[in-house]
Amino acid sequence: MTSAIVFGGTFDPVHNGHLAIARQAREGTGVEEVWFVPAALAPLRDPPHATPQDRLELLEAACAASAQPGFRVLDIATRRGGISYTAEVMDALRTAHPDVHLAVLVGADAARTISAWHRSADLLRTEHFVIVNRSGAEPLLAAEAERLGYAPARTTLLTVHSPDVSATEVRSRCLRGESIEGLVPEVVAALIAGKGMYHQNRDDA
Ligand code: ATP
Repeated sequence: MTSAIVFGGTFDPVHNGHLAIARQAREGTGVEEVWFVPAALAPLRDPPHATPQDRLELLEAACAASAQPGFRVLDIATRRGGISYTAEVMDALRTAHPDVHLAVLVGADAARTISAWHRSADLLRTEHFVIVNRSGAEPLLAAEAERLGYAPARTTLLTVHSPDVSATEVRSRCLRGESIEGLVPEVVAALIAGKGMYHQNRDDA
């Protein structure tokens, strides 16, 4: 059975932190594939700045350039539209790919908020989780994970090293006309520049 880690986010835009996490999660778990699933709208967040089409295109380009085996981009959440709740995205993925063993990739910070997620009890009862601790941050250890409701048999804790970059920083630099070299893959920087993405404040558009 193929196995895949599901990496959800807004990816507005994808950056080197995302790619580092994805690579280390795949290598650290031995899972064959990482599926990047950009949200249409993310729960409790402002709408993304870029369109779903542009976010998908940047992700496709980043994955192709990464030459990482098993990186795939799925439009299942952006096609559905609305708020992309993890529980619903996982249900849709399981229906579309019944032959693939799936696990949810989540950063430790987000993992600590699981009780506030839509259908958190369902998620904790059925899903496999890969929780990533970033070096330098307060690690989420096995005892805390269990207290939060993660079943030990379905939970993998990993420590990863990723560059300290956020999509917010990438967008701010674009807005100020500064270089984003080193924060995103070259091909992503070229697409952002070519499309003139993030160069205008959304409120001024
Ligand atoms: P924003 O700055 O717009 O909030 P972001 O860079 O945090 O965006 P998202 O697309 O929301 O990006 O991220 C999806 C997930 O990727 C996040 O939940 C987070 O766990 C992880 N992530 C984001 N940046 C990094 C990074 N530098 N290193 C490791 N993981 C990251």
